Amino acid sequence: MRAIDDAYGSLRTVRALPMSPAEVDALAEEFEPRPAEDVLAWAVDRFAGRIVLTCSWQQQSSVLLDMCSRLGADIRVVELDTGLLFPETYATRDALIARYGVTVERVDPLRTVAEQAEDEGPELWAREPDRCCGLRKVEPLERALTGMDAWVTGIRRAQSPTRAGARKVQLDARRGVVKIQPLVDWDDERVKGYLFAHDVPYNPLHDQGYPSIGCVPCTRRVAEGEDARAGRWAGTGKTECGLHL
Ligand code: SF4
Repeated sequence: MRAIDDAYGSLRTVRALPMSPAEVDALAEEFEPRPAEDVLAWAVDRFAGRIVLTCSWQQQSSVLLDMCSRLGADIRVVELDTGLLFPETYATRDALIARYGVTVERVDPLRTVAEQAEDEGPELWAREPDRCCGLRKVEPLERALTGMDAWVTGIRRAQSPTRAGARKVQLDARRGVVKIQPLVDWDDERVKGYLFAHDVPYNPLHDQGYPSIGCVPCTRRVAEGEDARAGRWAGTGKTECGLHL
């Protein structure tokens, strides 16, 4: 366990920034009124060979993979597989790979779910969800970002108050990458509209009361009118897994 904690800690060292905060602010202003495809195309060109798209296999992943395909974008695609995802999520991944012929690099946690239970006791997510997310999501992300200058994510402002200030281009200074967030200003209707217009495979759980989908133990259906992320870590006060600082 010590080795794992050391590995986790060593990745927390601050990296040099690929762009200055002033440059990133100017780009965020420039791209704010422009379409998602513009920022994605710019980023793939600007950070060629040093840009990664992470996929959670929620509906935003479907949109971004379709856009990358239409743009002919040469981009590294990574999934952070906690080992605890829904069967529907894995099936969505497989459907998207089949549709777009994309190579997806899986980055696993350092320990399997069973090994984590042996070391930390069963169901760490129920006792220490921040540590569980740190081990199964954040540490793998930070490994995936090693050597990268830019990280494309599908987060949207409408998803939660904690994401309301997200921009299309912003710095993750701690991880030393520029975050590219082409869909930040999209609402649910726009996402659904894109998926239907282009006949893109998407996670069927979105149509079954799951606006936000994570690991099985920490995701539940939401009721009509509830916040979109109310079904994540319900009752714990936790609202983010730590990927998006
Ligand atoms: S969402 Fe839950 S099960 Fe998944 S990594 Fe976080 S705490 Fe663990």
